[in-house]
Amino acid sequence: MRLSRTAFAIALVGALGAGLAAQRGGTRIAPGQECPPGTTEVRPGNCQAPQEQAPSILDYRPRSTLVTAEHKVPKAKFPTVDVHGHPGALTTPEQIDRVISVMDSLNLRVMLVAENVSGERLTRTLAALNASPHKERFRVLAGVDFRNVGPGWGANAARQLEADLKAGAIGVGEVPKSFGLRITKPDGSRLKVDDPEMDPLWAAFARLDVPAFIHTAEPQEFFQPLDYKNERWLELALFPDRRNNQPGQVTFEQLMTERNNLFRKHPKTRFVAAHFGWHANDLARLSKMLDEFPNVTIEAGAILYDLGRQPRAAREFFIKYQDRIMFGKDSFQPDEYPYYWRVFETADEYFDYYRDYHATWKMYGMALPDDVLKKVYYKNAVRVFKGMPAGGWPQ
Ligand SMILES: [Zn+2]
Repeated sequence: MRLSRTAFAIALVGALGAGLAAQRGGTRIAPGQECPPGTTEVRPGNCQAPQEQAPSILDYRPRSTLVTAEHKVPKAKFPTVDVHGHPGALTTPEQIDRVISVMDSLNLRVMLVAENVSGERLTRTLAALNASPHKERFRVLAGVDFRNVGPGWGANAARQLEADLKAGAIGVGEVPKSFGLRITKPDGSRLKVDDPEMDPLWAAFARLDVPAFIHTAEPQEFFQPLDYKNERWLELALFPDRRNNQPGQVTFEQLMTERNNLFRKHPKTRFVAAHFGWHANDLARLSKMLDEFPNVTIEAGAILYDLGRQPRAAREFFIKYQDRIMFGKDSFQPDEYPYYWRVFETADEYFDYYRDYHATWKMYGMALPDDVLKKVYYKNAVRVFKGMPAGGWPQ
């Protein structure tokens, strides 16, 4: 066979390239195969190792050369209710003043204190807030003590709930993640989220017409092996107590099943699923959950990294479920709130998220319409948590 001059040149370059790949430790892989560790696919089927020592994921911090419009949003566009507040102790005027000055700087009008406390600890917080000039800036949720669930527990818990509401709480929460994951019954077995002993308590929420703000499970990847395919590898490596991936531990799916059983069993009880029910990475699944359970609303704390990586789908979702979503932040870090405002309010592209260990990717803004923002920021919270300050909200 006689090669044309061009074909000959291409063949020669190809042969040289292959030779070079071999020299540099190139490895051939079959279609569908992955490159071996420490290498990357430089041409189809050809993997190479870099000539320099590769940095760890901790040290690789590339400067972005993208030049694009930036709209930092230090203050929310509308007054906001943070339904997932963990502001720390609020028992002295100094503590309250410190939180108020942060709230003012962010345009947070009301913080819902979601520390899951009951009885004497609850009344102490309520007394300090009631004595403060800022009492209209806070509302407080009560707590449930899930220890020793057994016969009679449900009725007692319902009585305690009633007392806590009389003392001034406007709901319960945040029911902690340990409920379902770690809390046990007196016989040592795991207390399941849908354990029937608790039915009298959940029924009391309906009778008293207050919501239960409940955190169930953890991000899906916390239940998966800690390998280099896990998108939360760094977080799990930093915080071993977040790993729920040992043999015998309850699975993510088991917890979701129990939670949905609870929602189904008590259709008259209003539940607020914290952290988008940990389905922010699968909005179709979350839609299904909301469609199936009209008694459930969701809260957006600590899942911004999932919204900001799918801004178009997230925008559609917020518009469709605009009456079911509330803003909440969870961890009280004043510098982090503006990232939420920016993702919700702007159309900015490819900007940093606030914690590298949550997300190795960048954020994009959802540019939510004002009507939707108002609902997410305060209208839904005022409706769901009765007893919020009634007046003074924008129409
Ligand atoms: Zn939580």
